[in-house]
Amino acid sequence: MKYQSTRGGMTPQPFSDILLEGLAPDGGLAVPVTLPSIDAQTLESWRGLSYADLATEILGRFIDDIPRADLARLTHAAYRPEVFGSEGIVPLKPLSASVSLLGLSEGPTLAFKDMAMQFLGHVFEYVLDKRNATLNIVGATSGDTGSAAEYALRGKRGVSVFMLSPQGRMSEFQRAQMYSLQDENIHNIAVDGVFDECQDIVKALASDLDFKARHHIGAVNSINWARIAAQVVYYFWGWLRATTGSGQRVSFSVPSGNFGNILAGHIARQMGLPIRRLVLATNENNVLEEFFRTGVYRPRAAEHTHATSSPSMDISRASNFERFVFDLLDRDTDALRACWDQLANTGAFDLSHMLPQFESRYGFVAGVSTHADRLNTIRTTYEQTGVLIDPHTADGVKVAAPFVEEGIPMLVLETALPAKFSETIEQAIGKPAPVPAHLRGLSDLPQRVQQMDCSVDQVRAYIAQHAAS
Ligand SMILES: *Cc1c(COP(=O)(O)O)cnc(C)c1O
Repeated sequence: MKYQSTRGGMTPQPFSDILLEGLAPDGGLAVPVTLPSIDAQTLESWRGLSYADLATEILGRFIDDIPRADLARLTHAAYRPEVFGSEGIVPLKPLSASVSLLGLSEGPTLAFKDMAMQFLGHVFEYVLDKRNATLNIVGATSGDTGSAAEYALRGKRGVSVFMLSPQGRMSEFQRAQMYSLQDENIHNIAVDGVFDECQDIVKALASDLDFKARHHIGAVNSINWARIAAQVVYYFWGWLRATTGSGQRVSFSVPSGNFGNILAGHIARQMGLPIRRLVLATNENNVLEEFFRTGVYRPRAAEHTHATSSPSMDISRASNFERFVFDLLDRDTDALRACWDQLANTGAFDLSHMLPQFESRYGFVAGVSTHADRLNTIRTTYEQTGVLIDPHTADGVKVAAPFVEEGIPMLVLETALPAKFSETIEQAIGKPAPVPAHLRGLSDLPQRVQQMDCSVDQVRAYIAQHAAS
């Protein structure tokens, strides 16, 4: 299994070489040269597997430069009941006869990003060990990604994490979650600025090639292929749990932002998993919904991105979308480059001539959910089923509704637990979300965080002093 760039300018490389990289050298994204395919008989033979064993089967098809026994060790270390709270790792929670939640948020930070990040932590450590190398992860976070990365990489050999966050702009819960980590390889940096300014500092450091090479600076952003591959696993898991025999189909509804989660569903479908529909749910930031409705992709600038009550989906430039367009264009790298050139020149590209294929060939449909929809969906779901859902999951439940069909299970991906976004929960049902027992004392724990000015030089100096080497 080798990986190429969506833009055609990279000689195919093995998994371990693309693992630690961000963009391909030509500005494109790494994708498998050919996708593995899974036939119905193989799929049926997987029904009795544990989550970790299923992950070994599926990830083994994307990773052929890690011996199978080692890979199994990594998946079993990542997907343990002690980390995800139950033997099943990903529970199905029925809301009605046809709709269930796919419980992806049982990990340490209560959001689905733990599913991929926990595996990434183990595979990073493994590859760095083999190469006798070190890596310093530098990132910016407004919440979910940073905490998932820190919990996955805490205490890992060879890796340090430097995570910038905007001072005073995260929820108390999110702050407590990140800043209470006492591991020496985890460095929280609270910057006196907003998220975009944190992001600008990270970009400035990433373009300082000398600094980057000297300190082995890397990233764990949403374009990392290993994250996508790890996410493919739970689509197979959901299908296996929601069906009883081969040939049955399942639809998935996915609260979307950077197009990473639903891209994994697209990959699973391309591999042969019988998925009927992939329902893409956005909040008021509906760039992706607009694409699936009109065929025109027109990302928006940060100042036109609304701050909503499903904040992890407040994204107007979906970093993984290029991988889907690559498939849409039948993997024609010239055609893909033409789209991205047009995007750079005019701010948009137009694939409306392909509109009929979005659903018929790829199963994609889309819809928007607003703040009022979220409140209403959280409230009615709670009243009718007793299940409390978070605002992002509510967007998925709302947008899924018109696509529910009799006899076809609809699995809504539960991308976070309500305790993380309790203000909106309180607005919806008049009381806060319960905090899981093991996290109740979190905000009383001592916090470990460096306060810094909004200054590239100050952050650079701190990293140079504390980097793993
Ligand atoms: C990251 C995130 C999303 C969006 O996922 P993408 O892979 O960026 O589409 C949705 N919900 C929650 C809670 C998230 O943390």
